[in-house]
Order: sequence, then structure tokens, then C-alpha cells
Amino acid sequence: METVVILGGGPCGLSAAWELSGTGKNVVIIEAQSSLGGLCKTISYKGFNFDLGGHRFISENDELINKIKVLMGDELLVSERISAIRLNGREFQYPLSAGDILRQTDIRFLSGCLIDYAYQSIYKRIKHSPDTSFEDWVINRFGKKLYNTFFKDYTRKLWGIPPDKLSSDWAAERISLLNLWDVVLRLCGFGENTPRTYTRNFFYPKQGIGQIFEFIANEIKGNGGSIILNAGFKRLLFEGERVKGIIYDINGKDEAIDCDWVISTIPITDLLCNPDRGEEWQGVSEAVRSLRYRSLRFLNILIDKPEIGKNTWTYIPDGKYIMTRIQEPGKRSPYNAPDGMTSLILEIPCFYNDEVWNMPDDLLFKRCINDLLESGIDVNDKVIDYFYTREKHAYPIYHLDYKHHLKELTSFLDSKENILTSGRNGLFRYIFMDRAMEMGFEAAKIVQNSK
Ligand SMILES: Cc1cc2nc3c(=O)[nH]c(=O)nc-3n(C[C@H](O)[C@H](O)[C@H](O)COP(=O)(O)OP(=O)(O)OC[C@H]3O[C@@H](n4cnc5c(N)ncnc54)[C@H](O)[C@@H]3O)c2cc1C
Repeated sequence: METVVILGGGPCGLSAAWELSGTGKNVVIIEAQSSLGGLCKTISYKGFNFDLGGHRFISENDELINKIKVLMGDELLVSERISAIRLNGREFQYPLSAGDILRQTDIRFLSGCLIDYAYQSIYKRIKHSPDTSFEDWVINRFGKKLYNTFFKDYTRKLWGIPPDKLSSDWAAERISLLNLWDVVLRLCGFGENTPRTYTRNFFYPKQGIGQIFEFIANEIKGNGGSIILNAGFKRLLFEGERVKGIIYDINGKDEAIDCDWVISTIPITDLLCNPDRGEEWQGVSEAVRSLRYRSLRFLNILIDKPEIGKNTWTYIPDGKYIMTRIQEPGKRSPYNAPDGMTSLILEIPCFYNDEVWNMPDDLLFKRCINDLLESGIDVNDKVIDYFYTREKHAYPIYHLDYKHHLKELTSFLDSKENILTSGRNGLFRYIFMDRAMEMGFEAAKIVQNSK
């Protein structure tokens, strides 16, 4: 029987295993953590559920939606999103709407934005200004005033690098609006389609997003697939241009598995991090060192109060506050908190092992409670408990030259016969869970169709 090793038990790896298990192949998932779901896992604590930040399931792929509906049955809820940007003591609807900006600011601000936008459009025609960086991309479409107000500080805080050093690819993937004119059209009800940013309703399991992946894991086990937890991938074993096996670490001991195929969904930089592999690896090693990730530390707060506000989540762009987003999980599912109580998740961007990542728990907590208070959220005397979760590989950072380094790694893997890299960090692509799942199914099909 052919053995397929799947590295990583997040949405992509689990979907690949779901598709392949029960098809006559020996499917083995190697997962470094003690539980499955990857960035989409949910942690239960004292009757509360916390995702790693808030997650929602949206897809344009009806087949995928139906598959999840059948899998989850009554456990899948349809929830409504209300999201906002809290800035300078005011709350703006998100996605931005011209009417709300007008209501919350004044005609001078909005007309300033429109004049700036008109100037930018004319300037763009006369003097071609390329969309090289994130900053160029946004200014070319929205003008400087809106960029400075809503995008600049938030982007710098989220990514930890200046927006003019961030590739425009991120903006193109993340901001669904075409330009300021598009905002105005939408306000008047003339938006052509409903991009992801505008979708109000979303699917969400009763017990947190991770429940989807617990259900998928049960299917895989039911089909005879194996899942090895607490198993950290160490290195690939090559035989010519083929991968003949992998080494992983479990309880401080190296174990080997021989395999016919590898589908990797772990960070591509971790997959190819083995040094000293001869000349062929020189470019690879340099690329591995150059590609970086932004990390997140999540503060999860249990609160003895029925609710904090109406928002599912709120963006905090102001650079003086440590968090970028505040989530209230009870707005996704009422089962995320016990009756009469609620909770908050604060998303705090950082780099792995920097001062925020390592800040003592109580110090960071005090800082966050103070930032919440200054942003108008007073929970101090209602806190039951709190704890942190961390994610080292939260966001692949699109530096201006990231594509060149990524190509080095993907070309190396393309030259091997029986290994595929897929998923968010496997392909260093800022994708959502539905796409990660589709990629998992696609990788499985390639393996199935191989001779
Ligand atoms: C804060 C935040 C909010 C998000 N919100 C949404 C949302 O609302 N909707 C949405 O659709 N998407 C959202 N996403 C994106 C979504 O989480 C990802 O697209 C999805 O999890 C990608 O799945 P994946 O399987 O490719 O990768 P991952 O989820 O990263 O899974 C990779 C797995 O590999 C394991 N692994 C890593 N290294 C090793 C190793 N050396 N050995 C063994 N195993 C290893 C990891 O532990 C993990 O389980 C969000 C992401 C973040 C960070």
C-alpha cells in the first residue's frame, strides 16, 4: 500500500487527508502541536471557547460549503458580522462607507478625501505611478488623506514594517474595493458583486471554528488514516530526485517514516531549513533566511458580563495601542461563553521572540486593560480570568522582494518528483481557510492521479 505523509494538521493538511483516506492509501498526518486545526483551532477553557483570533467560514465554492454543511449538520450556525474601526474616540463601520465617514467626521474631511482622490486620479494619468508597495497601491486608489487616516498606522502595526516596504500584493489580495469611487457606488447600492470584505453572513460552528476540523479528523480516523500529534517535522530524506522518507521528532526522539508521497502544509521555510545539503541548497538556504513571518500573541479574557458591545470585531488602527483587533467570540456563537457571560480576544502583532512575544503575562495584561479602557472598553472589575495563546507563523510577510525568494524555494521543490507544498504557509500566501481546504483537496487529487 502506498504511504502518503501529510505534514501539518491544519485545514489544508486535514482536507488532503480527508480526500485521500479510505482510497486504499496509507495516510499519515504529522502534526507538531497537541491538537489539530492549525490557525483554525479553538481552545476551550472554563466553559469558554477561544479561536486563534476570530475566524469565520465563507466560500464562493458551493461544493465545499455543502460538504461542510453535511459534515456539521445542526452544529453549524449562520452568524451575522458587525465590524467597526475605532479611531480617535469614534467608531466607523467597516468596510468603510462614505455615508458613515460623513456622519462621523464632517463635510470638510469627506470633500478633502474626494479632492485628494480626484488629484491622485489625474496625477496617475499624467505621471504613471506604479503599484510597487502597499503604500503606492492604496494612495493610487484612495488618495493620501484616506491612506493616512485609515491604512498607514494600522498597516505598520500589523506588519511591523513601514507600508512602503510591504509589497502591493497584500493590498491586492486583502482590500476588495477597487477605489474610492467604488465606496461611493456601494453606498448608493450599485456594488457589482459582494466581495469577501462585504459579506455580512458567515458560517460558524457552535463550539468554535476548530469544531469543523475535529469533525474532519474523526472522518479521517474512521477511514483508517493515522494522526501523530506532538510530532515535529525535522527533515526530508532524498534518494535522487525523490523523497524516500521523512524524519520527525517525538518526545525528544527521532523517528523515520518511509513514504511514496509527501504533501507538506507546514511553513515552506521549515520544510527546507536543513543546512549543509551541498551546492543545490545554497540558494534555498538564503531564501529560507529571507522569508519572514509576523507572529501574533492573543490575550483571551473571560468576563462576567453578558456583552461588551454589538461588534463581532473591532479594528484598532491607532499606533499607540498594542492590539490591532478586538474580538467578542459570543457574537459568533452564543455557545462560546457560558450564559450571562462574555469574553474578548485581543490580537497583538509581534515578531517571534521579540519584547512583546516575551513580555511577562501580567505586564502585558495591564497594558491591554489600559489600552481597552482608553479605547472606551472598561472590563477591569469584570475579569474572571485570562490566558494567552501564541502563533509564530500568523502572517507571511510580503516584503518587496519576497517573490524572488519564494520562487527559489518552489522551484527547488518542483524539481523533486513526489513532494507537494500547499496551504497558507506552505505556499507563503495570504489565503483564507476555504482556499486552504481547496488546496488540500487539489493536492490529494494530484497524488491520486499519479501513476
Ligand atoms: C488572526 C487570524 C484570523 C483569521 N481569520 C480567518 C477567517 O475569519 N476566515 C478564514 O477563512 N481564514 C482566516 N484566517 C486564515 C486561516 O487561519 C488560514 O487560512 C488557515 O488556517 C490555513 O490553513 P493551513 O492548513 O494552510 O495552515 P495552518 O492552519 O497554519 O496549519 C499548518 C499546520 O502545520 C503544523 N506545523 C507547523 N510546523 C510544523 C512542523 N515542523 N511539524 C509538524 N507540523 C507543523 C501547525 O501546527 C499547523 O497545525 C485567519 C488567520 C489568522 C492568523
